[in-house]
Amino acid sequence: MMAPMLQLALGVPAIAGMLWIFVSGLSAPRTKKLAIFGMIPAGCAFGALLWSALNPEVELVSRFAASLAAIAGGSANAVWVSTIALPRRRVWLRLLFVPMGLWAGATLSLWFVLPAHGVVLEVCLLLLLSATLTSWFLLPWYSRRPEYIALGARKLPCVRFACPRCGTRVDWAQGIFACTDCGLFLHVDWPAQERENRPVNVLAERSIKFECPGCGKAREWKRGEDQCESCGLKVELHWNEHVRKSPPAPLPPEAPSKRE
Ligand SMILES: [Zn+2]
Ligand SMILES: [Zn+2]
Repeated sequence: MMAPMLQLALGVPAIAGMLWIFVSGLSAPRTKKLAIFGMIPAGCAFGALLWSALNPEVELVSRFAASLAAIAGGSANAVWVSTIALPRRRVWLRLLFVPMGLWAGATLSLWFVLPAHGVVLEVCLLLLLSATLTSWFLLPWYSRRPEYIALGARKLPCVRFACPRCGTRVDWAQGIFACTDCGLFLHVDWPAQERENRPVNVLAERSIKFECPGCGKAREWKRGEDQCESCGLKVELHWNEHVRKSPPAPLPPEAPSKRE
């Protein structure tokens, strides 16, 4: 095993990075549970790392620290892969690389904790780790900001922000566009058309942060119609939210009337 101090120096930044991914994953509904789950092994790994630095003679603690960090790493990878912006044709890659990263984390965790490793375990680990490492280069490449979104023969400008329903980052084309992952229809348009008798938006106040399509400055855009303070561009932003209403509470059973 690595020297405990070296393990501490490598482990603490890695766990801090994972925690950063988990905290950002909390805001996306589709990764919230996974992020909460991942924080448990990450926190335990941090504790075990500190413990093994203080008690370097107990080798098992240092093995456990590495093993827990591997499980947290697999979960952090899953959160990252689930919310990274991908073009519609590449969304299926999530189905490949989310489980692959989780398996890689679990296998690596076994590798750390088992005293002897069979050939099968080592081959599996090698394959899973190399696939996961490949995804770390491949996914950011596919996630580059497109200049436009091609819809048939039309090339539409786009803005990137997290889907208000599932939390995955999406490049939304100007006009009406569906989320690449949950299918939520969202309308974002600019410059907003002035219309008379516009119905007043009485839905819950929500806003989304993204770069102004006019000047590129990031700001919070209110749902409905909003205007950039820097360049004066008006942007329309609408989406439908199906608020799940709880069914009306059943009437209490009538008390049996007592006749005496
Ligand atoms: Zn979505
Ligand atoms: Zn602007």
